[in-house]
Amino acid sequence: MQRAAYAPGVDLGLPGQDDPRRAEVRQWLAAHPRPSGRQLAEAGYVVPHWAPPFGRDADPLTQLMIDEELRAAGVHRPINPIGIGWAGPTLMYAGGDEQKERWLWPLLSGEEFWCQLFSEPGAGSDLAALTTRAERDGDHYVINGQKVWNSYAHIAKWGIVLARTDPAAAKHQGISYFVCPMDAAGIEIRPLIDMTGEHAFNEVFFTDVRIPADHLIGAEHGGWELAKVTLGNERVSLSGEGSLWGMGPTADDLVDLVRAAGGAPDPSVRDALVSVWMESQILRVLRLRMVSAVLAGRAPGAEASVRKAIADAHGQHVMGVARDLAGAFGMLAGTGPVGGWGGGAVAIGADATWSRGFLYSPALTVGGGTAEVQRYIVAEKVLGLPRDP
Ligand SMILES: Cc1cc2nc3c(=O)[nH]c(=O)nc-3n(C[C@H](O)[C@H](O)[C@H](O)COP(=O)(O)OP(=O)(O)OC[C@H]3O[C@@H](n4cnc5c(N)ncnc54)[C@H](O)[C@@H]3O)c2cc1C
Repeated sequence: MQRAAYAPGVDLGLPGQDDPRRAEVRQWLAAHPRPSGRQLAEAGYVVPHWAPPFGRDADPLTQLMIDEELRAAGVHRPINPIGIGWAGPTLMYAGGDEQKERWLWPLLSGEEFWCQLFSEPGAGSDLAALTTRAERDGDHYVINGQKVWNSYAHIAKWGIVLARTDPAAAKHQGISYFVCPMDAAGIEIRPLIDMTGEHAFNEVFFTDVRIPADHLIGAEHGGWELAKVTLGNERVSLSGEGSLWGMGPTADDLVDLVRAAGGAPDPSVRDALVSVWMESQILRVLRLRMVSAVLAGRAPGAEASVRKAIADAHGQHVMGVARDLAGAFGMLAGTGPVGGWGGGAVAIGADATWSRGFLYSPALTVGGGTAEVQRYIVAEKVLGLPRDP
């Protein structure tokens, strides 16, 4: 049986195939059929909405058309999520011309990978409680302290670092924002293996790490404002509906697998499956409303905050139902959602995507602002309730 088409009733009205903006992208792709990251960067196709020369000042509609054309040609943008998604926009906002020229090209091309060194053992949700120090010493800053949960610090060339430059100032006032070379003397990177068995996180220790003073971004002690720019750049995703922060399988994928295996005999499991599917449809509509708001030139506002809070929990629900569907097989690594009733003979049961996704899913309501922090944002910024004392 086929999945019925679901029409959410939101028309994005993207211009057709003969639009000159599409033709321009196709022309470029014809001349660069297998573009390198550097070629994509220099053409402004990595982050098209940035100002030239790094982007193309593209409006949202043009961005979507560029995305479609690149996808149709099988061209992938460079992978450098923290660089392109968070560090880059902050450098665009506050970096000097030389800093932009030095760092942005290899960042956009993916030649130099970036990491984020914000969280500390005593500063996560309350990030401004950070205690890592940076002291000015001639034309250098000397950094001492410890960071934690730093994704991919072990393979990054550069890190964005928040450090306290004025310990006497009020909590949010004495913080500065730096770019740190990850191979500087005095940096020790220790791996943290997460529940999936993978090494993505690290602890990073700074002992008398000297970095040039021109690695300071923006004003000394003005780092908190830039930290907010970095954290706010968790972009409105215009693509990707995966249940793990826009990646990985969706509730539809789960339903497809169950359908292909002939259905689920247990009514309580069927009930749970329908619930997560309905949740996914609500999220799809919220996402499409966000996209159409952006296309119409409006800020996504409330939808973005509400959607993040629902989407994080949804990812855990999808993975939880998949685990329940696997029955006793769910205790094994590398099992998919079917097998519990169809027997191990069902080939799609041997799919590590789901067992890994289940183990990864608790991270969703912690990273990028915890579930509780999201609710504070919705309460204060969306509903206008009084600030938490
Ligand atoms: C997958 C992943 C990737 C990450 N990558 C990076 C990275 O690259 N760089 C980096 O610097 N950090 C990274 N982090 C760390 C992340 O930013 C922190 O985990 C997050 O900010 C929460 O901080 P914490 O872990 O110290 O938890 P805490 O802030 O100690 O929170 C613990 C619990 O208490 C709750 N809580 C805290 N304060 C309040 C309050 N006022 N009211 C109610 N409840 C509260 C929280 O919601 C949470 O449930 C990553 C985390 C994850 C999960």
